[in-house]
Amino acid sequence: MATIPSRVLFVGLDGGTRAILDPLFDRGWAPNLASLWRRCAVGDLRSTDPMVTPVAWTSFSTGCTPLTHGVHDFNYLDHSDRTVREHDATTVRVPTLWEIVSGLGGSVVSLGLPLTYPAPPVRGLFVAGADAPDPVRAFDQCPEFGRRLRLEVPDYTNKLVWKRRPRTAEEAAEQADRCARIFRAQADAAGKADQQVDWTAMMVHYHNLDSLQHRMWPYFDVDDTGLREAGFTDAVERCVRALDDSIGRLLELAADRDAAVVVASDHGFGPCRSLVNVNGMLRAAGLQRTRVYGTRFRYRAIRVLERLRRWRALREPGASAPAKVRPIDGQISCDWGRTLAFAPFGQLCGNVFLNRDAVSGASADRALDEVVALLRDARDPERGERLFADVYATADRLDVDPAREGMPDVFALSADGYQAQAKWSERYRNTILRPDPGLPATHWLNGVVAIDAPGVQPGRRLEAQLPDLAPTSLALLGLDVPRYMEGRVLQEAFETTIIVHRSETPPRIATEAEPVGDVVAAGVE
Ligand SMILES: [Zn+2]
Repeated sequence: MATIPSRVLFVGLDGGTRAILDPLFDRGWAPNLASLWRRCAVGDLRSTDPMVTPVAWTSFSTGCTPLTHGVHDFNYLDHSDRTVREHDATTVRVPTLWEIVSGLGGSVVSLGLPLTYPAPPVRGLFVAGADAPDPVRAFDQCPEFGRRLRLEVPDYTNKLVWKRRPRTAEEAAEQADRCARIFRAQADAAGKADQQVDWTAMMVHYHNLDSLQHRMWPYFDVDDTGLREAGFTDAVERCVRALDDSIGRLLELAADRDAAVVVASDHGFGPCRSLVNVNGMLRAAGLQRTRVYGTRFRYRAIRVLERLRRWRALREPGASAPAKVRPIDGQISCDWGRTLAFAPFGQLCGNVFLNRDAVSGASADRALDEVVALLRDARDPERGERLFADVYATADRLDVDPAREGMPDVFALSADGYQAQAKWSERYRNTILRPDPGLPATHWLNGVVAIDAPGVQPGRRLEAQLPDLAPTSLALLGLDVPRYMEGRVLQEAFETTIIVHRSETPPRIATEAEPVGDVVAAGVE
């Protein structure tokens, strides 16, 4: 039996995919990652349904499927007041790896993981990700560490660059410069955190890799959408080299601390052939109706009032942004008396709800069947490919009451290359398929995983799923794996079988966050 590591370092490559990594290794743009890959058990990591960031990272950190952890998208629908609300760390239904490690007496460092705001009650340093209200609030759990980073690592931020596709080489260079500085700052921040905390688990999350690929995919030049253009190609290279340099320093830190290393992505990536207008499809099939004047006026009025509410709330002294609670009517403009089905939110998944004011009983069943058949059969007329990889009625497939669980009545999971879109656009409301030049790439199903730990067989191929990583990591550390975790321990990564203890009782969860001052490591210089 190999020795048991006392720590695990997690590297989150948001949107990391073999389609990009393999060519980058060949070109020598990512020497640190390439050499890590050579000593790891590596493979594909299947994303969640749907393959979106908050759902996937929550499966990663809880060891559970979305049905168990309760996060099915960025948003959920509150039927009681017909509003669209945002998931955050408090709506995750099961404890995360961080709470488990902390509950067992260990300490945790987490830098920038999505859906960790507000921070869970853990011992250590917990810096929220891009979904925190602002860069200062991202440090709510550890304000002193936040002040330290602002002085000593001013480039550190939870913010995302690449909000849009750069139009000029100058714009690309400017965004690449920011992105590269943020990547580098993440290793600096990890180093500072390491000086303060004697950690058992450390997570460093590279979210800007996702945005970089969304906007700059063609300039990676890895497939038939590839482009080579001065100013753009080198902007990508600069970001990749900064990312690799940052990860190289994390790997040194892991080596100094005898930590196992787990690299994971939340989904893959690939060209985005088209956006798919889900509400437009429902409308074309007569399942959704628009009134010409009244409804659209109401839709606009709701949006203006909502903006006014947020603006007013922010003017209050000591204000922070109010929770984003949006009435459905402010999301899509429908004639609700005659609309049977609607998709109020979602990207990469058609989250279709039945309008319970218009259908019930047998008419609801009929509408449900119609929606499923419509989306299941939908194809790209040019390529003949299906727009959705899987379409199902939630109640049938998952055996739950979707209304009670706040889940859509129908899930329509995007096929690779087609990004379902619920967002209402006045201009494109009747356009079903629309390539978006500003979004040349989007999420594809298969991400990557690499594990470097004592006893790992370099070169072993893994076929893993996101919920496998929490139980595998706990087992690696010699800790009990709670029985509610649905993932499996990736035994095939190792030369000899790891002994796994499954614990019946839920792990003890610390009831309050402990201040950072109390956890400064005694034995770590
Ligand atoms: Zn992602």
